[in-house]
Amino acid sequence: MASRKKGKKKINIARFMLLAAAALLLLFIFSPNEMGPKEMGPPGSDHIHADFKVYIDGRPLNFSDSRFNERSPYAHLHTENFGGGDVIHIEGKIVPLSVFFESIGINITKDCITVENSSFCSTGSKKLRMFVNGKEAAQSGDYVPEDLDRILITYGPPSKKETERQINSVTDYACMHSGKCPEREIIDEIIYGNAVKF
Ligand SMILES: [Zn+2]
Repeated sequence: MASRKKGKKKINIARFMLLAAAALLLLFIFSPNEMGPKEMGPPGSDHIHADFKVYIDGRPLNFSDSRFNERSPYAHLHTENFGGGDVIHIEGKIVPLSVFFESIGINITKDCITVENSSFCSTGSKKLRMFVNGKEAAQSGDYVPEDLDRILITYGPPSKKETERQINSVTDYACMHSGKCPEREIIDEIIYGNAVKF
């Protein structure tokens, strides 16, 4: 009897070890690295807005085409709305930029931006850089935008004058979408007939 009991105990320990190993493996697989889906809030857990522009060799990419409309429930464009191709609507908590860009077919790493199978990588004379609210930030898709951020991602020769021009070209429509400048919403609707939708 005693030995049978002991055998059962051994099996229990083995089962426990197996479960612990499986738990460790799961922890390893889902540990936060780039995307951190575990940390992202579900769609609807937040609703903030950020203006953005992407320049490749001095030319801005155009995101107003309907093929860029609402590609991810976490972060997307409303291309039909006012400022559609310039404002990211972020619908979940802690959503990194990469979630948005990957949903519209753009991959960004520290040194390269890939747009429709063309990669543009930092070299001696050309650099991939990111500016948030006019300040250079570490170039990374991990960046989690805050409400009213103005984000510039730019690839090309890092000329100061050109960089300044690009920084200033990033719009500031997000405050209207976030309901933080109602006076501008009204003026814009009267003058341009642009209804801001959230
Ligand atoms: Zn919105």
